[in-house]
Amino acid sequence: MTIFIVLLGPPGVGKGTQAKILSETTKLAHVSSGDLFRENLKNQTELGKLAKSYMDKGELVPDDVTISMIRDRIARPDCEAGAILDGFPRTPAQAEALEKMLSEFGSEVNAVPNITAAESVLVERTSGRWTCRESGHIYHQTFSPPKQAGICDVDASELYQRDDDKVETVTKRIRVYLDQTMPLVDYYRQAGKLVEIDGTQAVEQVTEKLVAALKSKN
Ligand code: ADP
Ligand code: ADP
Repeated sequence: MTIFIVLLGPPGVGKGTQAKILSETTKLAHVSSGDLFRENLKNQTELGKLAKSYMDKGELVPDDVTISMIRDRIARPDCEAGAILDGFPRTPAQAEALEKMLSEFGSEVNAVPNITAAESVLVERTSGRWTCRESGHIYHQTFSPPKQAGICDVDASELYQRDDDKVETVTKRIRVYLDQTMPLVDYYRQAGKLVEIDGTQAVEQVTEKLVAALKSKN
């Protein structure tokens, strides 16, 4: 029995924050497509260089490379029991590819929390987001500040502001989300897998809602 959870929601709504908490409590792997691209960027791989040209513009990286990156990732042993997918799938083609690859493992997507918040909240959250250089831990200068400014509480690495968190790029990413990812809300609703989560509340309350919703789906 495996459990695959897809976290849907616009940029900055809190998917990464919630995925990390759920991954600790459920022991399921946290698979973040954005983190994987940023790791490739840091290591200067060909994939990283390709991804950067899209990420800087706030556009999606092409489906074929994204799908093959995720296929490799979920084939790793830490995903044997399942995973929390954060930022993937983001297009109908990715959702279909995910279904196919999971069925090869005799698995499926079990639940799809759709976390939502108004655009003003997304801009406020992304503009104050600080990310850890070493392993992507997430902070917010007002809502969840690190103990020491600019330093990650967990691994003491440097915190940085993502280039694509500039307001213009965030606005573009939200448009891309509405155009290309929103169709997945209906797709998973029709499959009976969607659960709506109000993302405007504090982190702990959103987690409570998520845990309750996931219990009702599994
Ligand atoms: P956020 O968590 O704020 O939504 P991500 O870290 O998930 O942002 O994504 C950052 C960027 O990485 C996206 O704007 C896009 O360029 C690229 N990216 C991440 N996931 C995908 C995906 N599933 N398909 C295509 N591009 C992706
Ligand atoms: P996403 O992965 O959806 O882009 P993140 O989890 O990276 O979103 O969160 C975006 C920013 O908002 C981060 O700075 C994070 O600390 C902050 N944040 C996340 N959830 C909440 C919340 N419920 N209330 C306030 N700030 C939050």
